[in-house]
Amino acid sequence: MRRDVYGFGHKAVMVYGMGASGRATALALQDAGVEVFVWDDGDDYASGPDNNLFTIRAPDAVDWTRIGALVKSPGIPVETFLVRAALAHKVPVMTDIDLLYRRDGGNGAAFIGITGTNGKSTTTALIGHILRVCGYKVAVGGNIGTPALALPELPKNGVYVLELSSYQLETLTDLQADGALLLNLTPDHLARHGTMEAYLAAKLRLFDTAKAGAVQVMGVDQPLLRGVAETRGVTTVSVNGVGDYIVANGRLTHGLDTLMPVDDLEHLPGPHNAQNVACAYALLVPRWCTAAEFRDACKSFKGLPHRLEKVGKVGDVLFVNDSKATNGDSTVYALQSFKNIYWICGGLPKTDGLGACVKHLGSVRAAFTIGQATEDFAETLVKYNVPSFKCHTMDVAVREAFAAARSEGLEDAVVLLSPSAASMDQFRNFEHRGDTFVNLVQGLVTIEQVERRVTGR
Ligand code: ADP
Repeated sequence: MRRDVYGFGHKAVMVYGMGASGRATALALQDAGVEVFVWDDGDDYASGPDNNLFTIRAPDAVDWTRIGALVKSPGIPVETFLVRAALAHKVPVMTDIDLLYRRDGGNGAAFIGITGTNGKSTTTALIGHILRVCGYKVAVGGNIGTPALALPELPKNGVYVLELSSYQLETLTDLQADGALLLNLTPDHLARHGTMEAYLAAKLRLFDTAKAGAVQVMGVDQPLLRGVAETRGVTTVSVNGVGDYIVANGRLTHGLDTLMPVDDLEHLPGPHNAQNVACAYALLVPRWCTAAEFRDACKSFKGLPHRLEKVGKVGDVLFVNDSKATNGDSTVYALQSFKNIYWICGGLPKTDGLGACVKHLGSVRAAFTIGQATEDFAETLVKYNVPSFKCHTMDVAVREAFAAARSEGLEDAVVLLSPSAASMDQFRNFEHRGDTFVNLVQGLVTIEQVERRVTGR
């Protein structure tokens, strides 16, 4: 008889939301012999490409007595009709993260969960990289890259490294993490969670469901997290105060021991990355690697694209792609990370415009504004005495920012794309925006190489 991998017995499963994770879930369930119904709120879904693969059920025509679970895409709020209907019929609501644990939790491999408002992807990729360098079989996924149920099954000494958003955590039931990390918590997604307390409670599910004896780490630079960490007795990390692990003067320390410098990692620049590295250290070194292995592996980490990514140099001018910075708060870190910045910003602005950026303009030599925010951002920045040029489009901004940087000839000049705004007014997404910037920079690099060849410089 076939093993009941997911524990639904003879019942069917309703998969709600057919993006990448929903499709992977539906296929994995079907592979395991589970009957699958799918639904997506998108228009005319029932006549779409998945019609031949799964049984489509209109939300009001579901026989809930036959359904063992509703597995929803993380982006779908719990207040929707289908989720409420499932709950009213006492059908469990979950995401693919719990199903992954049902599938592989008994294999002896370890599970590490990483969450926080900012830095999740960077820290998840860093932890995955370090473990790989140390020789573990590693599967990195969840909210980053590969959906949970498209991850491979790992052997006994394997480690699943999962980026988890609050949307994935709010319904968490089955996952029992061996390592749990909460990096930070600032107001975000409050339209969905309602209050900071509810947002925090969602994040804490990772710790509530963790294994006894799991390594549990929290960044405690926000007062709310400091209080929680004290009550729960978890390992604490701070970059501007007290904790078990502290970053001060560019060094990570633990009690009286200096562990490593964190200000010389080429692909992890800035104080925010120091937090990511410190948290990764506090999580990994007690159980998965030695201090020396950690330090070495950090040096070979290349960073993620679109997050303070050093794209290349033309002459003495460095180009940095931070397209992922879609709000003022995340751009603050970019502005703190470089001297002599020629700043390309703009796009579809958030309600608070440039937000906290206006308090961190000391290193900005000039701004080059694009997208819908062209006028607003330029007018705001001029009030703060930043020379601002209304460029409207990325190609003009790259050209003008480079010309300004070259003509001033300052040391450590950086043309920085850190938009502080969403991308959808001119691009498909932040990756498309970053790739456009990178292509334009590559064009400049090529022109410079040709010029050098011609002039023999
Ligand atoms: P997430 O996956 O949580 O969105 P990323 O690693 O993709 O985080 O980084 C998103 C943005 O947040 C980047 O622009 C980066 O500069 C900034 N960032 C990265 N780490 C941190 C941190 N620890 N605290 C605050 N901001 C951060």
